Amino acid sequence: MADTESDTRRRRRRWPGTVLNVRDLQVRYGRSVAALHGVDLAVPDRGVLAVLGSNGAGKSTLLRTISGTLKLHRGVVTRGDVRLGDARIDRLDPASIVRLGVVGVPEGRQIFTRMSVDDNLRAGGITASAEQRVKARKRVHELFPVLAERARQRAGLLSGGEQQMLAIGRALMSAPHVLLLDEPSLGLAPKVVEQISGIVREIHAQGTAVVLVEQNAVMALNVADHAVVLEVGRIALAGRSDELSRSEEVRHLYLGGHAGTQATQEEPGARKHFLSRWGG
Ligand code: ATP
Repeated sequence: MADTESDTRRRRRRWPGTVLNVRDLQVRYGRSVAALHGVDLAVPDRGVLAVLGSNGAGKSTLLRTISGTLKLHRGVVTRGDVRLGDARIDRLDPASIVRLGVVGVPEGRQIFTRMSVDDNLRAGGITASAEQRVKARKRVHELFPVLAERARQRAGLLSGGEQQMLAIGRALMSAPHVLLLDEPSLGLAPKVVEQISGIVREIHAQGTAVVLVEQNAVMALNVADHAVVLEVGRIALAGRSDELSRSEEVRHLYLGGHAGTQATQEEPGARKHFLSRWGG
């Protein structure tokens, strides 16, 4: 998906330093379930934003809204919007959002298990030009050499970690500006989670912004530069990941015994300076 200079300028004009903006987002399922209540967040341009929260906090709802798949789950935006630069995208269908460069990797991978690894990648590049596809495949094979080695094998024969790599690789085939990752560490062994973390960092280093939804807060805070914590549909905490991982609240609720392994020396007043708190 070629990005002209004017596209980039337009995307950055209104909110400099950010690529995707969610404002005052309220989402309902049917009449009775209010899943998000006025969520505000910004995805830094070429940065990684982690979205943390426990079961039912609204993480998947947020990703569904950004990717345009909310309707498929009978959800509806009742207030607020999602913008990619100046363009409002929360009323677009999923295919149009992919064409604009926002591509998701769903929870549970959802690769085509009967198709070959290579055909899965081809399916991901369907909206790109032939030239872009060649470039994207080269990038994917460099990031995941195993996908080149096993190109002709049925995708269902890959291990869980390799399937996750294929799912990410398939999303990268359309050269997205923003990659949405829904629980990429789910069900994977710690060593594989580490590998996936390294790959997310690499994707970010190559200039793609990432929204990383995770229950594995240790992994997410290590990878992301910014993070938000969702609690029952509201943003409870937001800030730089290093600051959040030092916050008592995040350590207590999300990092458990792992806190000490990643928290660095606490600076007095750090929480006050960097963390914003909404709601209660
Ligand atoms: P998990 O990690 O368990 O997937 P989550 O943080 O992703 O949780 P959501 O799946 O977004 O949370 O759910 C937010 C709220 O919306 C919950 O109360 C959930 O029960 C409700 N919800 C989610 N999907 C639907 C749906 N299709 N129909 C009705 N309610 C739903």
